[in-house]
Amino acid sequence: MKVFKFGGASVKDAAGVQNLAEIVRTQGKNAVVVVSAMGKTTNALEDLVRAYINPRPGQIQARLQTIRSYHESIIHGLTGNFTSVYQTLETLEAYLKQPFTGLYDEVYDQIVSLGEIMSTQIVAAYLANTGIATRWTDARQLIATDVTFREGRVDWEETNRRINNTVTTAAVTVTQGFIGQSPDGRTTTLGREGSDYTAAIFAYCLNAESVTIWKDVPGVLNADPKWFDQTVLLEKITYQDAIELAYYGATVIHPKTIKPLQNKGIPLYVRSFVKPDAPGTVIGHYERHLLIPSFIFKINQVLISLHPNDFSFIAEDNLSRIFGRFAQAGIKINLMQNTAISFSVVVDNNQDRIPELLGQLRQDFRVSYNDGLELITIRYYDQSTIDRVLVNKKLLLEQKSRYTVQLVVKDLG
Ligand code: ASP
Repeated sequence: MKVFKFGGASVKDAAGVQNLAEIVRTQGKNAVVVVSAMGKTTNALEDLVRAYINPRPGQIQARLQTIRSYHESIIHGLTGNFTSVYQTLETLEAYLKQPFTGLYDEVYDQIVSLGEIMSTQIVAAYLANTGIATRWTDARQLIATDVTFREGRVDWEETNRRINNTVTTAAVTVTQGFIGQSPDGRTTTLGREGSDYTAAIFAYCLNAESVTIWKDVPGVLNADPKWFDQTVLLEKITYQDAIELAYYGATVIHPKTIKPLQNKGIPLYVRSFVKPDAPGTVIGHYERHLLIPSFIFKINQVLISLHPNDFSFIAEDNLSRIFGRFAQAGIKINLMQNTAISFSVVVDNNQDRIPELLGQLRQDFRVSYNDGLELITIRYYDQSTIDRVLVNKKLLLEQKSRYTVQLVVKDLG
């Protein structure tokens, strides 16, 4: 059995859904098809959550209407029975009529998850209408998580049991990425861009023959074309390299996706839905590492440096206090470096969380803060590649390991 994952860009309009159907018809007989919310629906639903929690006249209705019209415009370009989509829109509307109670993250998951529900309802109805045996399956009944809203942790044993009791090869299974359910029956999500991870979970549990992520790029490139003119398609990548690239911020694959596949030796293909016959990239068990350098750019980075207020060194006790604070604030550290009396970290500039964290850190440390930075990671670097990316940049911090260099820079351009 194969597992296919289609992201929001692949189903952003009716033509995208038709293209998906053609790929499934020609290459995905009996596949499990994991689908994200259509286009930028997740962002639109996030706006709706904010409007619901901080209501201002007309805002909820306006946002709801945008989401409704967008899905209707896609439906109007397709044929099929789309009653269930209208029912989901009604469920959403009814939810928003209730007064806001509970926690932000929980409410977020109940609302935002409906993007995936609607997209799969449209895709399944259209596939069925084209004559493909299709079974719409609710991922909330299959992906068992704990109650960590917005970052649900998967209960693998329970999920495995449910998936194997439900998924058959009798039809194409159409299901949602990104969403699951807590033991007490509340919807959870797996973190932004989590649909790739869902595909890996299904593949792992079903011992799938492969996973294919269908993207709007030809495969995994050695750099993001947004930042680099001359990019190269990487035809084969080891699991190890793919994990490292994803972890450092290559957005083409969600970092959690690869480990489960590596454990079972299931190949992961990254292919273009625009050119579905092109081979793309395959990630698997290979002897050889990447032969060329890969570049990962992260913008909007903040460098935070901490100096103890007392005369202590940066040693175990200080470090554990610092890490505790970051973990509690839910801020992921992209790079860290310490000397005897200072500790520096680079993190994404998350203004919802950083100011409070800084307040806490200031209780024990003198804190310096530098924003508007870029973090450049090069895997399989040499000096000429470093020189190339440093043109017109001021280097603030550098960290090298055998295969990877990370550079924190300020753009002077
Ligand atoms: N729709 C979700 C998001 O945009 C999950 C995904 O697309 O992977 O983050």
